[in-house]
Amino acid sequence: MGKRTGRLRRLPELECLFPGTLKEAVSLLSKHDGRARLIAGGTDLLLKMKYRDLTPRILIDLSGIEDLHALTYSREKGLVIGAMVTLAGVRDSSLVKKHCPILEETVGQMASEQVRNMGTMVGNLCNAVPSADSAPPLIALGASLKLVGPKSSRTVLVEDFFKGPGQTVLNPKEIVKEIQIPRGRGEKGTYIKHTLRREMDLAVVGVAVCLASNSKKDTCKDIRISLGAVAPVPMRAKRAEGVLRGKKFSEGLIEDAALAASEEAKPIEDIRASAEYRKEMVRVLTKRAIRSSIQQL
Ligand SMILES: Cc1cc2nc3c(=O)[nH]c(=O)nc-3n(C[C@H](O)[C@H](O)[C@H](O)COP(=O)(O)OP(=O)(O)OC[C@H]3O[C@@H](n4cnc5c(N)ncnc54)[C@H](O)[C@@H]3O)c2cc1C
Repeated sequence: MGKRTGRLRRLPELECLFPGTLKEAVSLLSKHDGRARLIAGGTDLLLKMKYRDLTPRILIDLSGIEDLHALTYSREKGLVIGAMVTLAGVRDSSLVKKHCPILEETVGQMASEQVRNMGTMVGNLCNAVPSADSAPPLIALGASLKLVGPKSSRTVLVEDFFKGPGQTVLNPKEIVKEIQIPRGRGEKGTYIKHTLRREMDLAVVGVAVCLASNSKKDTCKDIRISLGAVAPVPMRAKRAEGVLRGKKFSEGLIEDAALAASEEAKPIEDIRASAEYRKEMVRVLTKRAIRSSIQQL
């Protein structure tokens, strides 16, 4: 997905490696430094290879690593989504439906069933396009990624993971093991994606909101707003959050927060929409997403 320069060609001859453990995968990545690429579902990678945007000589297939297929929930760790859990696997999980329904709603707006059956949520983040649909809801949920390298591992917030279009903080010897979503404290959330076509289209704008209220449900205890496709990286609209946090919900404040989000967005103009249109859509969708999240409280 994204801007293409060449034409679609057959894949060249490749070596494919099939590690059985994450440790083995990390060591293969180090051994073949610069020549190898990790493959999960391949829905982004194989297309890039066919266009010769990427030309790895070796593929390290993560599908045989059992631990990476796990999706679990515990009170201490919250929801943990392994790197090989497919988009359909996330959508269909009863744990996701119960603890993070915003992710079910998000996957329902992504790609096609064939792509959802192959593509992973972690692959969607690692591909790092500004319109990646998984990013805004995960940022709004306060999610982190566990990165494992040859000598150590580290945890990075999804909101700090992206450096620019197609670029992340992941170093070439690291593998993303899992997405970690902290246990919620009653937050409710919504992801709204605006596309030009009804199906199978990238977001022109994506807005995710997660919020929590007091027990009377009339005051905003906490809120996170995240925007996709309106800046070089998926971003948080922190000024907009500040408009509502700690205040009584009111139509006027919702309008003010939505306006602040649209002012914070830094969209580009491209073939799919003007920057002005994107900013206006941020305002409209942020308002809708906040209202919908409040209705769920
Ligand atoms: C027809 C079509 C429609 C689509 N529609 C949408 C859409 O609506 N919304 C949307 O957001 N996306 C869409 N996509 C993009 C794509 O499906 C997703 O980005 C997908 O989730 C990528 O996951 P994957 O497992 O296929 O990744 P892969 O293609 O296997 O990998 C993608 C990149 O991530 C790296 N990688 C994978 N796993 C790891 C790991 N564990 N650690 C480190 N690096 C890793 C790979 O090396 C590669 O660079 C669409 C794609 C197609 C072909």
